[in-house]
Amino acid sequence: MKNAGSTKFDLTEDLKQCIEFHGHLCPGLVYGYLVAKNAINLLELKRSRDEEVVAISENDSCAVDALQVLLGTSIGKGNLILKDYGKNAYTILNRSSKRAYRFSRNRYYRYSGKSREEFDRLDAAISSGAASEKEKWRHKLLKAKDLLSRPFNDIFSTKEIDIVMPPYAPLARSEACAKCGEMTMSTKMAYAENGKRICIPCST
Ligand SMILES: [Zn+2]
Ligand SMILES: [Zn+2]
Repeated sequence: MKNAGSTKFDLTEDLKQCIEFHGHLCPGLVYGYLVAKNAINLLELKRSRDEEVVAISENDSCAVDALQVLLGTSIGKGNLILKDYGKNAYTILNRSSKRAYRFSRNRYYRYSGKSREEFDRLDAAISSGAASEKEKWRHKLLKAKDLLSRPFNDIFSTKEIDIVMPPYAPLARSEACAKCGEMTMSTKMAYAENGKRICIPCST
């Protein structure tokens, strides 16, 4: 694929891993990448094999995938907690040192790269709804590149915070639903009118 000269840039190995998992490079992924890298430094983290690291994301955007790749905080392990607040803010915890940092973006994005005119033109086209798919991706690429070139403190404010360590992901035995017979985590079951234990879909 032809790549315009001004957007060609070297990707680090860890960012490449994030792109491979996520499927594309976009500003959201870069936000998560930057937060993960800084959390690793500040909290001296290794990728979480189990639940040693916990991430609380205050959005469910592309950024979350970089946290999953780099921090090993994943939905499946239960050490990725999503709060759907629509905020570009993340809290990363290290269980062994009991330390946590919250990273939050608290200013408007402003393009600072060399392709300013092109960025503004694409931005206007997107706002008016006239941008093509190709232009939308070009806009994302310029923004991602710009974010990668800036000091972290320009993008996020960082605070060490006191936080109660969240409980470990719950484990519970499964039992068969009295109605459909499917094995269901016992703590997630409801009671039918006859007092039998049934799964949530059967109870509604
Ligand atoms: Zn994305
Ligand atoms: Zn059922």
